[in-house]
Amino acid sequence: MKLIQATLKKGKDKAVLRRHPWVFSGAIAHFDETPADGDWIALQSHEGKVLATGYYSPGSIAIRVLDFKAITNIAEWIQERITLAYQSRQNLGFIAPQTTNCYRLLFAEADMLPGLIVDIYNQTAVIQCHSLGMYKLRDTIAKAVVAVTEVKAVFDKSGDTLKDKTINNKYVLGSPSDQWVVENGHQFSIDWETGQKTGFFLDQRDNRQFVSTISKGKKVLNAFSYSGGFSVYALSGGARVVDSVDISASAIALCNKNVAQNGFEDRHQGIVADGFDYLKSMDEDYDIIILDPPAFAKSQRVTHNALVAYKRLNAMAMKKMRTGSKLLTFSCSQHITAPLFADAVRAAAIEVGKPMRVLHRFTQPMDHPMNIFHPEGEYLKGLLIEIL
Ligand code: SAH
Repeated sequence: MKLIQATLKKGKDKAVLRRHPWVFSGAIAHFDETPADGDWIALQSHEGKVLATGYYSPGSIAIRVLDFKAITNIAEWIQERITLAYQSRQNLGFIAPQTTNCYRLLFAEADMLPGLIVDIYNQTAVIQCHSLGMYKLRDTIAKAVVAVTEVKAVFDKSGDTLKDKTINNKYVLGSPSDQWVVENGHQFSIDWETGQKTGFFLDQRDNRQFVSTISKGKKVLNAFSYSGGFSVYALSGGARVVDSVDISASAIALCNKNVAQNGFEDRHQGIVADGFDYLKSMDEDYDIIILDPPAFAKSQRVTHNALVAYKRLNAMAMKKMRTGSKLLTFSCSQHITAPLFADAVRAAAIEVGKPMRVLHRFTQPMDHPMNIFHPEGEYLKGLLIEIL
């Protein structure tokens, strides 16, 4: 393992000493050799004290830290991290083959593997690398995941996330297997090869479970439904009818398949439509509306536009809601903080002018933890709003 030495400017070691895993390019005095994207870095203070080991990427976040010490054997270190991550999920009860066999095994900075996501779907792990540094470790990671967990095959989906067009999605270990998983006793078909993200939105598990507890006898709209996670839970909770709306025909096909597999198709309608258009033209008779749009703010630069879009979307739903009905509204944009999102939703409520109140706040589940020194890792936020 070849390491390039990076030395920080005087006084620029404070964030690293606080265990923040990002080193900005402006904090670095010099490298002992010009690093290439993904090269290993040994980081030291201006005074020559060993601070951390990480990898380089060109851009304002120049070094992402894996550990705040020297790492000498990266394969061993990775196996250790993955073992810890697996044990943590196991202790939290996420690995219960009869009821839940899909979960996030590795979540970037929260598992000290910045730039890496690994989701487990029954016997298949889906790896997504968001940086070349992690991608160079892909085979080591894949081997360790198979050694540590119940997984038999590893599918690499980094072709979707890395800019290099020569990197393709493919199986790196094992071969295609059964795509059905079980989550809290509900069955879902996961299309990891061509579906969105790693194939499923595991981060909404707890919020979907909540929906099943309030759905009995209700008419539910699941807008931006993807493969129907919220729809299946609402139906299993006894919803009278559920309409799932998504702009993607393949998402609705998958949603219909999942609803049917769980035996609920007689109370469900899958609709391919733009969510904004649907809200504009629909009747005012839903008891529960779920809004879980894609991230509107993909970067800090477009935060303002995203806030305008969240306000518009929420106002459109609120306009069509009657007394007693409930809105579950989410944002998965990392750049929109929970207070900013609450402001956008409040602005929508002011515009609509109906009495309403916040009953509950939603966040991401325990297999998507947040590194306490890296608050940027908190990204999923939601509000439960009741129209009075
Ligand atoms: N709630 C889902 C995840 C939603 S992801 C779950 O729990 O699994 C966001 C979804 O919004 C994607 O499926 C995407 O296809 C859809 N989408 C994006 N733009 C849209 C639009 N304008 N109208 C409707 N759906 C849209």
